[in-house]
Amino acid sequence: MKLTILGCYAATPRTISNPTSQVLEIKNKTFLIDCAEGTQVQLRKSKVKFTKISHVFISHLHGDHFYGLIGLISTFMLLNRENDLTIFGPKGIKEIILMQLKYSCSFTGYKLIFHELESKESEIIFEDDKVIVSTIPLSHRIYTNGFLFREKNVIRKINIDQVEAYNIEKVYFNKIKNGGNITLENSQIIENSELTFDPQPSKSYAFCSDTRYDESIIPIIKNVDVLYHESTFLEKDESLSGKTMHSTAKQAATIAQKANVKNLILGHFSTRYNDIELFKSEAKTIFANSEIAADGKVFDFN
Ligand SMILES: [Zn+2]
Ligand SMILES: [Zn+2]
Repeated sequence: MKLTILGCYAATPRTISNPTSQVLEIKNKTFLIDCAEGTQVQLRKSKVKFTKISHVFISHLHGDHFYGLIGLISTFMLLNRENDLTIFGPKGIKEIILMQLKYSCSFTGYKLIFHELESKESEIIFEDDKVIVSTIPLSHRIYTNGFLFREKNVIRKINIDQVEAYNIEKVYFNKIKNGGNITLENSQIIENSELTFDPQPSKSYAFCSDTRYDESIIPIIKNVDVLYHESTFLEKDESLSGKTMHSTAKQAATIAQKANVKNLILGHFSTRYNDIELFKSEAKTIFANSEIAADGKVFDFN
């Protein structure tokens, strides 16, 4: 599981920073999470292949989270993309994008598939044999979701010594990896647990932006490997976080601690602060494994 931060600041793009967008590579899938202005350029800088992006997850319809989407869709068109592009986002996103395409007389040669979200409860929105994605309803000024990405790891690791000891042929290896028992020629049944080791624990990533401090997300994100939580403000400006429905670094760290996550990444920093390291030191007073995002930074969780 690899996370590339394309932009991790609030509000406006600047020459030195970009608003929210990131790429999650999980089980050979490439997911784009939020798509602010500048995302295309940041993707190019990070050398993420455009064709690999199959799904886009938009948290909410504030500009600093999706104003880059129509540009990206348009570029995909100019690059003669053929693969489908699936977009998850709040109700209204389909109308906005289609309206922009209509009035610019543009037509995508690839299929755009929209999944509009309006539930206030957490729901599974994507699932295949390797990954499952559910929403994390957040508390912000407009309808907003975070997203929880979980690897499904059902493939067991073969114990070669045991398999050789029983003279089991390679043709049965897939069955064993998938948890099957093996019946030998003498009718003896060998339990799968004798032939395999437990699979690597599956990894999970929770993306939470934008939100006020809200403990109701804790049961959803409990024990995740990595939590990205917005921290727009430092604690000294807590009154602003209340008014704008954002969080402070201390509040993000408190959520991380209460949810017993393994790692916290802070982001969505207000551009009023010159020293972003202050977010990390503030969070660390509550939660030791706190890190700060940075545009272009890569977190490899394998
Ligand atoms: Zn924002
Ligand atoms: Zn917002």
